[in-house]
Amino acid sequence: DTLINQIAAGEVIERPASALKEILENSIDAGATDITVQIDQGGLKLIRVADNGKGIARSDLPLALARHATSKISTQEDLLKITSLGFRGEALASIGAVSRLLLSSYHASDQHAWHIQAEGGHLVAPEPTARTQGTTLEIRDLFFNLPARRKFLKTEATEFAHCEEVYRRIALSHADIALSLQHNGKTRSHLHITDVNKRIAAVLGEEFSHTSAFVSESAADIRLQGRVALPAYSRATRDMQYFFVNGRYVRDKLVAHALREAYRDVLHLERHPAFVLYLEINPENVDVNVHPTKTEVRFRDARAIHQFIFHSINKVLATPSR
Ligand code: ADP
Ligand code: MG
Repeated sequence: DTLINQIAAGEVIERPASALKEILENSIDAGATDITVQIDQGGLKLIRVADNGKGIARSDLPLALARHATSKISTQEDLLKITSLGFRGEALASIGAVSRLLLSSYHASDQHAWHIQAEGGHLVAPEPTARTQGTTLEIRDLFFNLPARRKFLKTEATEFAHCEEVYRRIALSHADIALSLQHNGKTRSHLHITDVNKRIAAVLGEEFSHTSAFVSESAADIRLQGRVALPAYSRATRDMQYFFVNGRYVRDKLVAHALREAYRDVLHLERHPAFVLYLEINPENVDVNVHPTKTEVRFRDARAIHQFIFHSINKVLATPSR
């Protein structure tokens, strides 16, 4: 079982940033409005995420670390309309199999908080602890028992940069959550709850905000919001492309193509456009169950999505009063 978990871990957890992504998504799924992230040595030594979400009851703590145990979907129909970020129930089991993990939580149904430990997949029975409502997950010494994979990791700075990118994507897609990020004891980001426009400025900088146009287009059961850079924006690179589908960061060829075409059509711009866009569609019209790392999606009506994005962006870029 430990071996199976280690193998599964390799699919989902490639580096500290992938563990961070999974934990942050769990905090969001738990309804947290305040999340603090502490990272030491690029996440190789420590990744600690504390949230004020609904918590995990004592009786569910061992389940949270079990493979294929998810509290988020229970029927096949649920799989067709996923609204949570997680649904596979393998992230915590995978992380627990390849690290020293401490999960502390307080859920309103218990008298007090409990924590549970796992080391290389071996669980220690829950013990009482003290904390307010919510969950804290500490991951130490990622891949300590998989030296081959640990060797594969890059420098502390590079691994932290990947963690920061994960944090940025979460921050951009959740303006309604306060977030902070520390690295080696130094605060790198502190974000208050705000609206989308202010959050984008706080995360990507004032220059982007001043040299981009606001997008807000909707049709029958689809909505596109966000900001797209205008030609005056100086920093357009491929890493300034943030696209979210129902709050989930997505890297999609179809979407990229629609945006590129819109820029080319209106501005005759060939370079990579910079954008932060949020697409909201009926969850039944998009399949997020494509790959464990979940940055791919499949749209039920790809053509219609392409056209909607193209026309929305085309219109915004072509409007003189932008
Ligand atoms: P999934 O998110 O796919 O359900 P995970 O392995 O990421 O699977 O998490 C397992 C379970 O642990 C979740 O379904 C949830 O019930 C619980 N859990 C994990 N993290 C948190 C958290 N921060 N707050 C509340 N519950 C959590
Ligand atoms: Mg999860």
